[in-house]
Amino acid sequence: MILNKFDPWNSKLCTCPFKLSLNPYTGCSHNCVYCYASSYIKNFFNPRPKRNLIEKLKREAKKLNGQIISISNSSDPYQHLEEKLKLTRKCLEILKNYNCKIQIITKSNLVLRDIDILKEMNAMVSITITTINNEIAKKLEPNAPKPNERIDAVKELIENKIPVSVRIDPIIPFLNDEQEDLIKELAKIGVKHITSSTYKVREDNWKRFEQAFPEIAEKLKELYFEKGEKISNYYYLPKDLRLKIMLKMKKLTNKYNISFACCREGFKINDNTCDGSWLLNSFNFFQSKNVKNLFQYINT
Ligand code: SF4
Repeated sequence: MILNKFDPWNSKLCTCPFKLSLNPYTGCSHNCVYCYASSYIKNFFNPRPKRNLIEKLKREAKKLNGQIISISNSSDPYQHLEEKLKLTRKCLEILKNYNCKIQIITKSNLVLRDIDILKEMNAMVSITITTINNEIAKKLEPNAPKPNERIDAVKELIENKIPVSVRIDPIIPFLNDEQEDLIKELAKIGVKHITSSTYKVREDNWKRFEQAFPEIAEKLKELYFEKGEKISNYYYLPKDLRLKIMLKMKKLTNKYNISFACCREGFKINDNTCDGSWLLNSFNFFQSKNVKNLFQYINT
């Protein structure tokens, strides 16, 4: 199967609505230090296309009936391979013909290439921006586009009336826990929803983190491994600290009239669906080309 249930483990911490997940690629070239997917997918940083992706999707798409399809959750659909292979675009071209809603999750401004097709669908884009500091971003997400390129992408999508939510995720104490400048910038360009969560430690992402940010890792050790809690093989920060960080993010986003949600933290503080999918409801039905054609037909 190429369309799979999102969160097949039914985690109690996941508050997402029911949706399907589609990954055009296995693995990812952005090489994020904190990446969670690298702990359960082999050769993760040697990305490759999913085998028989297009044939499988053509077959499975026929059964769709209004579901949300999240593209993608364990790799970036607009990573470097996509520039030449265009598999994500080919998937969108297929899905356009079926009854479904699209949620794109990316760190890349390459998504702008597909604005034409996204405008024809009930689609939203979730762009992750962890910091506006170029130096930190370069160490944290070495091969992903720069923060200002991502902010420009958010702006251009909104100008094209494609709903956008931003993930400021993960928040790592002592590294990127001061986010007011970014939130203010996002409010200025019309962002309506921000999702955030704290960094969860796995063995392999911690090794990368210690290497990239040794001084901060030293400060975090006690918080994660002595005072924190372990939930499903992830080390979490202490609960009261996580709540404090999330409430601070909520206060800031709300100050700028942006809806807030946290992800997999276990706190009931969300203003809207955690993944920003509520924005799909604000889809302007009358913008759709098929509907415009129908009206033209009725009027002639
Ligand atoms: S973009 Fe996402 S999937 Fe890719 S390396 Fe970064 S965290 Fe992992």
